Amino acid sequence: MRVALIGTGYVGLTTGVTLAFLGHDVTCVDVDADRVAALSAGRLPFYEPWLPEMFALASERLRFASDSRCAVPGADVVFITVGTPPGADGQPDLTFLRTAACDIGSHVAGDFTVVVNKSTVPVGSGNWVEALMRDAFMARNGSRPKGTSFSVVSNPEFLREGSALHDSLYADRIVIGSDHPRSIAVMQELYRPLTEQTFTSPAFLPRPDSVHTVPLITTDLASAELVKYASNAFLSLKISFINEMAELAERVGGDISHVARAIGLDRRIGPRFLDAGIGWGGSCFGKDTCALLSMGAEYGVSLPIVAATREVNYRQRDRVIERLQSKLKILKGRSIALLGATFKAHTDDLRDSPALDIARRLAARGAWVRLHDPVAIGKAERELDGAGVACMDTVAAAADGADAIVLATEWPEYRDLPWSELAASMRTPLLFDGRNFLNEAKVRAAGFEYHGIGR
Ligand code: NAD
Repeated sequence: MRVALIGTGYVGLTTGVTLAFLGHDVTCVDVDADRVAALSAGRLPFYEPWLPEMFALASERLRFASDSRCAVPGADVVFITVGTPPGADGQPDLTFLRTAACDIGSHVAGDFTVVVNKSTVPVGSGNWVEALMRDAFMARNGSRPKGTSFSVVSNPEFLREGSALHDSLYADRIVIGSDHPRSIAVMQELYRPLTEQTFTSPAFLPRPDSVHTVPLITTDLASAELVKYASNAFLSLKISFINEMAELAERVGGDISHVARAIGLDRRIGPRFLDAGIGWGGSCFGKDTCALLSMGAEYGVSLPIVAATREVNYRQRDRVIERLQSKLKILKGRSIALLGATFKAHTDDLRDSPALDIARRLAARGAWVRLHDPVAIGKAERELDGAGVACMDTVAAAADGADAIVLATEWPEYRDLPWSELAASMRTPLLFDGRNFLNEAKVRAAGFEYHGIGR
């Protein structure tokens, strides 16, 4: 099939590469001309495990353009994968979506095109995109679409940064929202290699033994749009719940990792997303829970669970500062080594990263923050420009003379650091493990005073 993707970010590029790998003819469009030039030259704009390898496998069927006219006319399927960042009022900013919809509407041509909204958008956006496209089509052609028809479907994306390629090839499910049989048939055909798992797995991403087929769920547009928000709200809720329990465990002298393991073995609950820590971040959970609250307000439905999920999450960041303060008393002039800048390991994404938030807040209180990240330190330096945070190339440089280390991201390389040497180089060997990630006995043996979350 001929596929166009509008937006080559984490979602667009991953989707484009995956569809090209599966045998479709894919053109990825982005308004960022530098990004398009880099991609055309084989340079990837962000870090994602296995993306370079998949990109190489798919490159024959993958093209890049900065003008949607090179991709939209004649495409069987056009994906919208532009960003929907948080707006000032909590609602997602749909400016990019509007531009993309108008652009597609003015260039769509051919017998039938399915326009797929993969960006995370509030309920009702599918109808809005279709109306924008129709207007743009009429403005350009002077008449209603005749001989050219299109239909907008919702196909929410569930990939996790850090395992995006794995999640795309071996998804838990694919959701299609549409009441248009022909569009659903096109989407079923597009995704058949995935749903039936008929492709040959790349050697570096073998098919898990448990994956034989991938369910494709069809539903109406509104339900599909809601699925994405409800999924993210539930996942963020699980993390906030365990963090709330962690605070109580700490007070009563329990260990939240034992509690989490025991409750997670209940099959009704499941073990994942029960890791206590400094809380969630990233481009989706914060933005999507906020959008959900706005949607609730718009439709007169209060969503107290979603509101509490957010409250508990952002409180975790305050608690890091409070705990540092209670140990060090005065933060002004203290030197704090912060390990990890990204919101989780295996990505270079810094959006709504707890680490950056904590770095900024510590710096604002007069602490001297020295940040390290194995992948995203250059990006972090640009992001933190003017915040008074020093970005270091090595952990040793960040820890040298420090009053405390805070581990903010669970990068595997932090597990086996030369802890004795680090402790010896610090002013006070104090360690806050914000992800309960380190071997407590080992770091204590190296001379650290260790503090985890909820233990
Ligand atoms: P991103 O910001 O990384 O990428 C968006 C890209 O779209 C940018 O490269 C931008 O230049 C481009 N763009 C903007 N307007 C354009 C236009 N009119 N024409 C062509 N290109 C345009 O965003 P992302 O993280 O890939 O997220 C995309 C959407 O997917 C969002 O709605 C997000 O909520 C959702 N989502 C993201 C993830 C994730 O983990 N990142 C997961 C699931 C869903």
